[in-house]
Amino acid sequence: MAAEAVDILATVGGNDPAAHDHGVCVETLLNRARRSFDEKGMKLTSLRLRVLEEIAASHDAMGAYDVLERLSQKSGGRMAPISVYRAIDALQQAGLVHRLESRNAYFACHAPHTSRQRHMALVCETCAGVTEVAVSSLHATIEAACRTQGFELRSAVAEAFGVCATCQASPTHASTEGRSS
Ligand SMILES: [Zn+2]
Ligand SMILES: [Zn+2]
Ligand SMILES: [Zn+2]
Repeated sequence: MAAEAVDILATVGGNDPAAHDHGVCVETLLNRARRSFDEKGMKLTSLRLRVLEEIAASHDAMGAYDVLERLSQKSGGRMAPISVYRAIDALQQAGLVHRLESRNAYFACHAPHTSRQRHMALVCETCAGVTEVAVSSLHATIEAACRTQGFELRSAVAEAFGVCATCQASPTHASTEGRSS
């Protein structure tokens, strides 16, 4: 593993299963989930675990409805949406899953960080993979801007959309580059 820049929380770029061993991502996340729930005195119930496994199956953000559909298909019965929503809430509290606000979807967090630590989601429009990057200075700028307006800031969302490094390196990317310019 190469040394990473301090600010980079998650370095997995792209969603191509061939580009990295996603089994390692999932294994690491599940181990962290067990620890995280323990530390918070919360229970990693089998439903929470199954919901986490669905969301973590890829680096994509997934809607709650899709999670519900997949789990229902697997269990062969209709599940109550509220139980899935509650499981997602618990996973968010434990810092294992984040909400992609602009898409109303959820993605697995593959790099531990405190909830107070500001981060930005980089969303690849080609492979749909989500990567997190720490952006404390960006949030400082937002806070300062709000102060100039006497605005009481409660939350701010930093989500960026574009093409991840893996997708840029793929042969199909070069052929579509510049099509809109
Ligand atoms: Zn990508
Ligand atoms: Zn992965
Ligand atoms: Zn995270």
